[in-house]
Amino acid sequence: MVHPVFDNLPTTIFERMSGLARQHGAINLGQGFPDDQGPLPVREAAARALIESSNQYPPMRGLPELRAAVAGHYERTQGLTIDPDTEVTITSGATEALAAAFLSLIAPGDEVVLFQPLYDAYLPLVRRAGGVPKLVRLAPPHWRFDRAMLEAAFSDRTRMVVLNSPLNPAAVVASEDDLALLAELCVRHDAIAVCDEVWEAVVFDGRRHRPLIGFPGMGERTVKIGSAGKLFGMTGWKVGFLVAAPPLTRALAAAHQFLTFTTPPNLQAGVAWGLEHHRTWFETMPADLQRSRDRLTAGLRAAGYVVLESQGTYFLNVDLAASGIAVDDVTFCERCVAEFGVAAIPVSAFFAEDPVRTVVRLCFAKADATLDEAVERLAAARVAFS
Ligand code: PMP
Ligand code: GLN
Repeated sequence: MVHPVFDNLPTTIFERMSGLARQHGAINLGQGFPDDQGPLPVREAAARALIESSNQYPPMRGLPELRAAVAGHYERTQGLTIDPDTEVTITSGATEALAAAFLSLIAPGDEVVLFQPLYDAYLPLVRRAGGVPKLVRLAPPHWRFDRAMLEAAFSDRTRMVVLNSPLNPAAVVASEDDLALLAELCVRHDAIAVCDEVWEAVVFDGRRHRPLIGFPGMGERTVKIGSAGKLFGMTGWKVGFLVAAPPLTRALAAAHQFLTFTTPPNLQAGVAWGLEHHRTWFETMPADLQRSRDRLTAGLRAAGYVVLESQGTYFLNVDLAASGIAVDDVTFCERCVAEFGVAAIPVSAFFAEDPVRTVVRLCFAKADATLDEAVERLAAARVAFS
């Protein structure tokens, strides 16, 4: 007797492609994780806390020092004024933050506007919370929404919109105008915005992340979600942040207390230390990733691939059809990992209906030598597929 939402739900595409990468000994440019270990001083701070500080339950809403560090970080980097005591909840990763937001803020029958391509956790969690998904389909190469698309999706029953910017897997950042438009619709329909901003620190070419919560009228109706795993490039560190006005935070914390209650204290301490004392990271990390993006882009273009613009995240996308490759993304990825030794992610996996089937996502958060070897193999794949 399995709940219908979870009955026959397949294993995530990330786990599947990483499994195939292991099986075939392939270079894994699929699942998004850097191949270095993350900043040593931050890991040392967590290690010190593990040995020297309490390993018992920390406060349910998170270590006070981490809540203060999150508020300070967002004030410095995004100009937000956040009360660490009443507006911040620490969760076990952004995934738990998403679950807490959906469980506490959606009532059965509420409509939830979501953008495709969508991160794989959203739809099952929204449905399990009783939400009725209203999907807005974004398409390459720009992956943008407009007024008509939003007005078609929003209704009197809209309770929530879920925005992911920078957008995984499309690697685009919502513009100021697009955010203002979404804010206008949220205010008009009295809807809550759940903003998955886990990629906020990974933006390129001089961009600055603009949080929707800072737009007029959005302060009291936005849940801003962050992830230390992404901020510090240590994806196994499941430490997430929920930032929202006090009434929303009370609801979020009520859900969080029965999902995980709390998150390992040494990791919280490590993140707090990093946010306060390792600030240069937020300059060097995106600059290094931008160089990796450029290296992979140049190599792929030289090999004849059409590469879509990557404005942020660890990812870039190639357009197979435009590159003269006639197979769909799933076929390409399955054959690429088995026959050419490179794992990638088919972007159709991020669609619930009417998928884009010609785009493949590659992770560039890797050493130069790994990227160069992957380019050689992908060059051979392109010749074979054309
Ligand atoms: N949202 C998006 C868009 C993501 O890409 C990810 C992970 N890559 C998550 C949420 C989950 O973050 P966490 O690992 O902190 O749970
Ligand atoms: N968010 C990561 C990605 O997009 C994967 C996370 C996971 O494997 N659950 O690759």
